[in-house]
Amino acid sequence: MKVRFLDINAQYQALKQEINHAVLSVLESGQFILGPEVSSFEKVFADYAGSSYAVGVASGTDALELSLSALDIKGGDEVITTPFTYVATTEAIHHAGAKIVFSEIEEDTYNLDPKKMEDKITSKTKAILPVHLFGQSCNMTALSKIAKKYNLKIIEDAAQAVGASWDAYSIGHFSSLACYSFYPTKNLGACGDAGIITTNDKNLYEKILKLRYHGRSPTKNYEYIMRGRNSRLDSLQAAILQVKLKYLTQWNKSRREKAKKYDKLLKDLSYVKTPYVDRETYHVYHAYSMRAEKRDQLKEFLENKNIDTAIYYPLPLHLQPLYQNLGYEKGDFPISEKVSQEVLALPMYPELEDEHIEYVSSTIKAFYKSAG
Ligand SMILES: *Cc1c(COP(=O)(O)O)cnc(C)c1O
Repeated sequence: MKVRFLDINAQYQALKQEINHAVLSVLESGQFILGPEVSSFEKVFADYAGSSYAVGVASGTDALELSLSALDIKGGDEVITTPFTYVATTEAIHHAGAKIVFSEIEEDTYNLDPKKMEDKITSKTKAILPVHLFGQSCNMTALSKIAKKYNLKIIEDAAQAVGASWDAYSIGHFSSLACYSFYPTKNLGACGDAGIITTNDKNLYEKILKLRYHGRSPTKNYEYIMRGRNSRLDSLQAAILQVKLKYLTQWNKSRREKAKKYDKLLKDLSYVKTPYVDRETYHVYHAYSMRAEKRDQLKEFLENKNIDTAIYYPLPLHLQPLYQNLGYEKGDFPISEKVSQEVLALPMYPELEDEHIEYVSSTIKAFYKSAG
């Protein structure tokens, strides 16, 4: 048996007619940038996410960069985020010219630990950038308390958490802006790069509409009123995403069922810790990242048995060569460092079959039996 880590093509195969139809109508229309497909998708996505507005942009990374720009975060400002995330999170802060300030994560959820954050806040701190890692929301009650106390903005990196919630509120409820990615492997994947920003703030919404389109005036052609850039969502991607969005609730449900099955089959194995789920969260399992003893050997063993796995992320960002100049050292964030040595993501996608999960789980058990 072969168990792939992902099956990107399964959704296209299942929705071929609908997607082909949507793509062909865009091709016939001749409108490829923004246009009715994009505004229509923005509207249904805002509804889905429970927010007032949504602005389609070129990628999840751009969503973060435009959000920082919309809040006027710039050189001299500081933004607090997690060292245990994908590099795009901090890259956006870097591009804004602001200082990246790392703060430690919780060992069980892998998300920013609100209890360890306050001593990172200075008079220059402007925002917190929490990442809902692997599809589980950060503790937004605690983070928004801190933000209120110190008058900070929150921008959420929800690239991995489309459809997730905290305390029954959708992502985006507790912040100024939430940023989503539709990179093909994300829970809602486009056929190329794409992203979106949601907000409940009309002023921010109108500002981001301008920022993504060279800072142009909404009323006067070829008049520019702010320093913008080119980051628009393609009509083709919007049309595809609108088809796929209808199935997202079902797909996320299916991911949760797969996760439950792994949990059940692995729970008695003392060598692994299945992902912890905070009771306030609706986890959408972008990844099923467990922690494992002898992680690297286990990964190799699984590979030899035709089971693909992945490590998110093997080196925390504070130790990356890119960020050496920030002055962090090994030992600064011991939990992030420990977790990065232990995490292993098992195959996870809505189409994953029960027999695959059973095979993966029994192979993991076989590894520990042989390794002692
Ligand atoms: C995927 C991802 C991004 C970037 O999204 P792109 O659409 O690839 O630019 C940002 N942050 C996190 C946590 C991600 O997983």
